Amino acid sequence: MKAAVVTKDHKVKITNKTLRPLKHGEALLKMVCCGVCHTDLHVKNADFGDKTGVTLGHEGVGIVSEVGPGVTSLKPGDRASVAWFFKGCGHCEYCTTGHETLCRSVENAGFSVDGGMAEECIVVADYAVKVPDSLDSAAASSITCAGVTTYKAIKMTRTTPGQWIVIYGLGGLGNLALQYAKNVFNAKVVAVDVNDSQLRLATKMGADLVVNPRKEDATSVIQEKTGGCHAAVVTAVAKDAFNSAVGAVRAGGRVIAVGLPPEAMSLDIPRLVLDGIEVVGSLVGTRQDLAEAFQFAAEGKVTPKVTLRAIEDINDIFQEMEDGKICGRMVIDLQRRT
Ligand SMILES: [Zn+2]
Ligand SMILES: [Zn+2]
Repeated sequence: MKAAVVTKDHKVKITNKTLRPLKHGEALLKMVCCGVCHTDLHVKNADFGDKTGVTLGHEGVGIVSEVGPGVTSLKPGDRASVAWFFKGCGHCEYCTTGHETLCRSVENAGFSVDGGMAEECIVVADYAVKVPDSLDSAAASSITCAGVTTYKAIKMTRTTPGQWIVIYGLGGLGNLALQYAKNVFNAKVVAVDVNDSQLRLATKMGADLVVNPRKEDATSVIQEKTGGCHAAVVTAVAKDAFNSAVGAVRAGGRVIAVGLPPEAMSLDIPRLVLDGIEVVGSLVGTRQDLAEAFQFAAEGKVTPKVTLRAIEDINDIFQEMEDGKICGRMVIDLQRRT
């Protein structure tokens, strides 16, 4: 079967791979589609170590074609996901207390194990989350990564309906964060982005206040107009956004860090202590978070912007990504016959 495999020279080659037989607890998915993520770009470029030979893809949706011995959670015909959180150990303190994505023995799809950018993919049945019937597969692929990541981040703000959340960065992640914040958590939302076109889209999608920090001082505008937000979610990949977020929340506010700039942020210690500010990191989401994120999307509360592409386009897509030309999510159509 065809698979998008990382090569030594940091490209992706469409090769023919033969999968091994299923082991106990595993299921075989006939893949429908798989989104292309910035993380795939990092994996391909060996930014997290050499991954030559691995099949990419952690935003996959497929249909179960076969189950191995002992599988009770999936049956042939079910639609299920291939997510970055591919499998935890199942018995450590993180796995048993609702923090399974922090498991120290975690497996990640398209990184430590072969992922879903292929015609077929082997998953651990108990870790592959079922996709609700009314949710389109391409939309579901986007929820598998960006959707669950932002849903979890908004959940971690612990805000109640009517409270203010400021979102830094309104790109692919931020746009979904805005939809979850408005349409699921019933929050009042401030959108902060250096790009006016992203802010126009944010307004259209219901943002209550938009701020361009290139044109005005974000923290003072937000403090003045909202009295300080109850929480901030930072999806922007810029240190300045993290620093601004700490200034934009009110006393007792929580700052949830999602974006990953490779730098340190500066934290004013008196601000942290005297105003009781919390700064918390958030990484993807658990199986339960993904099931919830899927369900809200299936109910039409969140709609990802997706474009279907052929698997042969994969290197072009990475080039477009590096050139910053991509709007929404590029999703590989794995049932397209070429
Ligand atoms: Zn992803
Ligand atoms: Zn574990």
